[in-house]
Amino acid sequence: VRNFFIGGNWKMNGSLAEAKKLVEMLNGFEVPANTEVVVAPPALYIDRVHQGLKKEIKVAAQNAYLKASGAYTGEISPQMLKDMGLEWVVLGHSERREYFHESDELVGKKTAFALEAGLSVIACIGEKLEEREANITNDVVARQMKAIAAEIKDWTNVVVAYEPVWAIGTGKVASPEQAQDVHQFLREWLAENVSAKAAEETRILYGGSVNGGNCKTLGAKPDIDGFLVGGASLKPEFGEIILSRQ
Ligand code: 13P
Repeated sequence: VRNFFIGGNWKMNGSLAEAKKLVEMLNGFEVPANTEVVVAPPALYIDRVHQGLKKEIKVAAQNAYLKASGAYTGEISPQMLKDMGLEWVVLGHSERREYFHESDELVGKKTAFALEAGLSVIACIGEKLEEREANITNDVVARQMKAIAAEIKDWTNVVVAYEPVWAIGTGKVASPEQAQDVHQFLREWLAENVSAKAAEETRILYGGSVNGGNCKTLGAKPDIDGFLVGGASLKPEFGEIILSRQ
């Protein structure tokens, strides 16, 4: 049985003062035994947040590079994240793909490299609006999954986040049925292309305008194993989202 998983992606938001307030807020939330909570602050604040948070709540980086060290100005390696006691990294977020030109292949390679370094990975995929309108959503997410599957064998430490780009930061959440359809497709894809075990055990999160009001109906769908939350992870309603599977 898959544990529920709630990720909070702070993106490039906040300040040191706000990060401290969020730590206090998070420490005040009760985390149900069946739920894993991981937050991803901006890189500069990761260590402070990690030091301040209670141990039930884990910390992720929003990105990492595919080398352990070297002349890669501005980058952070998975080995450095491990060194700082972190367990998780978010890779392939649509904003990285869009604004920093990360390709499917790069995301696949980064995923393999982070796993080899001993991190767990939240691997993000999702179609753009024009792709959904052209009815190629399944083709797009299958292509993104294939690029990851080409680089890794073991999916044990991978959580997949399905985030339709048109739903991110727009207030236009996918309907529970739209999300469930894609999640079911992804699980079938894993069964056919990886293994029955990977299909059964891999958590598939939904992301895109998740909030305190819509999390319960989304979370009730059989193939939705949790959420990757942007805007609402910076607000008290993140507490309700953590409780959405209770
Ligand atoms: P929003 O929840 O702000 O739509 O962002 C979703 C997201 O991109 C999480 O990674």
